[in-house]
Amino acid sequence: MSLEPKYKRILVKLSGEALMGEDSYGINRVTIERIVNEIKGVVDLGVQVAIVIGGGNIFRGVAPAAAGMDRATADYMGMLATVMNALALQDAMRHAGVVSRVQSALTIQQVAEPYIRGKAIRYLEENKVVIFGAGTGNPFFTTDTAAALRGMEVGADIVLKATKVDGVYTDDPKKNPDAVRYHTVTFDEAISRNLKVMDATAFALCRDQKMNISVFSIFKAGALKRVVLGEDEGTLVHC
Ligand code: UDP
Repeated sequence: MSLEPKYKRILVKLSGEALMGEDSYGINRVTIERIVNEIKGVVDLGVQVAIVIGGGNIFRGVAPAAAGMDRATADYMGMLATVMNALALQDAMRHAGVVSRVQSALTIQQVAEPYIRGKAIRYLEENKVVIFGAGTGNPFFTTDTAAALRGMEVGADIVLKATKVDGVYTDDPKKNPDAVRYHTVTFDEAISRNLKVMDATAFALCRDQKMNISVFSIFKAGALKRVVLGEDEGTLVHC
């Protein structure tokens, strides 16, 4: 098995829900430690890692909890939730000996440094993991879109969407035992087959900019590393 990574710089989109583990809310310590371990595995290969972290485990602008609220206000709350996750992730990384920096798209300078593209790229060149909090900094967007955007801005080779399912399937594998995983699929096929890869804005952005997406499970031990090594893992969405 070759240990030569296929990608030199990656952008990982980690959903807030990934941090919950089996809990129904918040951050599960054991789960976050496991995720950090997976990330450390690719950092140790010399891969430059940027992460966009979600906030759905704490607050989602479109969730029932936000019902009756002004949407933009709820979305700003959602973005602040992603900053909390970013700090938790950085803390877990510190414990694991992984050097990281948090950059926030909303300025809260006592808590995190602001998003500065050039600085983020420099950190990556120094092999520091960069964790992007506060999504795009704009309401009415999602962290999927932030992942696509930041991936392009820092010149990532690919956007890796970490989910609970190990790829894109022909049908919901939880409901249909005959559902089959796509190993690779083109953007056009994904559209014509109505496959759910990322949210529509993020998907369109990646398609326009020819940024490939890989969908894989962060809960499957070694899956992130296999994706980075170019092995058959998850689903590769390509041009
Ligand atoms: N959000 C936003 N703009 C962004 C990114 C996120 O307004 O650029 C808000 C939005 O309310 C969203 C919440 O933050 O519901 C949490 O992000 P997301 O739902 O993408 O998190 P995930 O599903 O990945 O946990």
